[in-house]
Amino acid sequence: MNHTMRSFADASLLLILLAVAPQSMRAEEAPCPASFFAEARPAPGRARKAMLSDYLPSLAGGPGDTPVFIIEGRKPGATLFVCAGTHGNEIAGVVAAAILAERVEVDQGRLIVLPRANRSAASYPDPDKPGPSSISIGTAKGERVFLYGARRTRPEDEGRPDTSLFLYPGSKLTQNGNEARNLDRNYPGKPDGGLTSRVAFAISALIEKEGVDVAFDLHESDPESKLAWIIVANPKNIDCAAMAVLDLESSGIRMAVDASAAEPRGLSHREWGDGSKAMAFLVETPNPAQAAPPLSGDAVNDPERPLSRRVSVQLATVAAIVSACNEGLPEESRIVLEGIPSPGEITASGLGAFLE
Ligand SMILES: [Zn+2]
Repeated sequence: MNHTMRSFADASLLLILLAVAPQSMRAEEAPCPASFFAEARPAPGRARKAMLSDYLPSLAGGPGDTPVFIIEGRKPGATLFVCAGTHGNEIAGVVAAAILAERVEVDQGRLIVLPRANRSAASYPDPDKPGPSSISIGTAKGERVFLYGARRTRPEDEGRPDTSLFLYPGSKLTQNGNEARNLDRNYPGKPDGGLTSRVAFAISALIEKEGVDVAFDLHESDPESKLAWIIVANPKNIDCAAMAVLDLESSGIRMAVDASAAEPRGLSHREWGDGSKAMAFLVETPNPAQAAPPLSGDAVNDPERPLSRRVSVQLATVAAIVSACNEGLPEESRIVLEGIPSPGEITASGLGAFLE
């Protein structure tokens, strides 16, 4: 048996053992800071607030349950889904999602925002790259606090211990066992899996049930990573990403574009796009505080890559891709958003001007 086959067999055995683990090992209620539920706060009447547990009831009341905001447009059209907080320390996406939920007008279509996909990951410091416990942004009404957490689900929330190896879903590739707690390795997820896999399952179910046409997963990366300033697109919709990159370039934003790799499986842009009708995109900006030790940076006030710049690029990228996707859709099936703040507006007024 070669190494890969042995890894696969070991992982299969562990998965079988875990499948018969008693219910008492399942997720326990995690402490949730009071500030969490105010992280995105659309004004009353602006959005319908659902919960992720609406798509998988076993999440209800536990550390994987998290708000979903649904905004109906003035005219019918396509459905746009924006997911952020997959990784708890990738804060630009979380703030961009809050601005979308709170300030952007939907003229046509429907906007669904999941600002904290992995709530558990927001609840503790990352063991490899600990950052601040939260960041705050000044607004006209006071300070807005956003939790700054970890890459993976909190171990105590997962409901089962890490195994030595993680087997990517639908693949024979393996990775360190703690990747079982990495939401962006677990799609399409399992309704009876560990907490992270169940959250992935609920997000996949949301995409299917809501008939999502265009889906985004907003991330950040180590500034030295090849993922900094990149759009990763499912191969079926990479043409929209390529068109958007040209559009962004004309406004001074340089993004690279790449297609989802065939392996490993389990990543959002690959599985959402392959498993549903949705065009699927991942957006990455560089977070200086995610630099590999001993390097470290400021997640908010880095002079080269301040949070305001990263958030503005996330928003501009969503806008450019939606616009490119609209080109291929009949007029009655488009998504038209108004009031996405431009990079110039965010530079001039600050992020707080676009938050409640
Ligand atoms: Zn990420």
